[in-house]
Amino acid sequence: MFDGNVLKEYLIKRGVSKVGYTEINVSEFPDFNYGISLVMKLPKDCIQALIDEDYQYYWTRFHGIIAELREISMDVERLIKSNSYDAFALTLDRNEIDMDKLLSRLPYKTLATSSGLGWIGRSALFVTEEYGSAVALSSVLTDMPLEVSSPITDSLCDECEECQKACPVGAINPTKWNSRLTREDIIDIKTCSEYVIDQYKKGLGCSKCLSNCKLTQDYFNSI
Ligand code: SF4
Ligand code: SF4
Repeated sequence: MFDGNVLKEYLIKRGVSKVGYTEINVSEFPDFNYGISLVMKLPKDCIQALIDEDYQYYWTRFHGIIAELREISMDVERLIKSNSYDAFALTLDRNEIDMDKLLSRLPYKTLATSSGLGWIGRSALFVTEEYGSAVALSSVLTDMPLEVSSPITDSLCDECEECQKACPVGAINPTKWNSRLTREDIIDIKTCSEYVIDQYKKGLGCSKCLSNCKLTQDYFNSI
């Protein structure tokens, strides 16, 4: 019988690092009441490129991983539909970003924390215990009944402040995330995005909060 366990096994075999399920109730997607969250760890060379500030290499590798996640998400959509349920792969091109708010229709991070796969770090990045913030995310929505996980609603960042110290423009607030806060409570997203765009125009970037995350470093040093 095709169910959430079979789907999880399939996804792990396809190379997805973590999979979680959550219930959703989103007006934009009224036909779907479950979200499937997919987390893919970044390989060592990808993190090394960030440490070396070799953004050309990093973006080429990262876009390759996003393309792989897109293909897997579309395959999941087809697989669920072939088992008589409805599904919608929430790939990047189907999850448009509101450029004023710099927010997507249904943030992957929201689905991933609700699925219990990790939390929002002090950096406002999604953080996992195993890979820190060195991950890429995707999601699939469905009406197939799934056994959901307990959500994570509070930061597990302890007293660490490494990402805050690493930010070159002081955009990260000391406040630790919980699901009752807004993004603005933990990060000055305007200051961050202006700096990142400015760096991007010079062929550079900024992911210092990602590469300096204590848990990213632990993962990097373990592989
Ligand atoms: S991306 Fe760079 S500027 Fe933005 S919060 Fe992270 S370290 Fe700061
Ligand atoms: S560097 Fe520390 S505070 Fe920042 S996200 Fe990582 S674990 Fe959390």
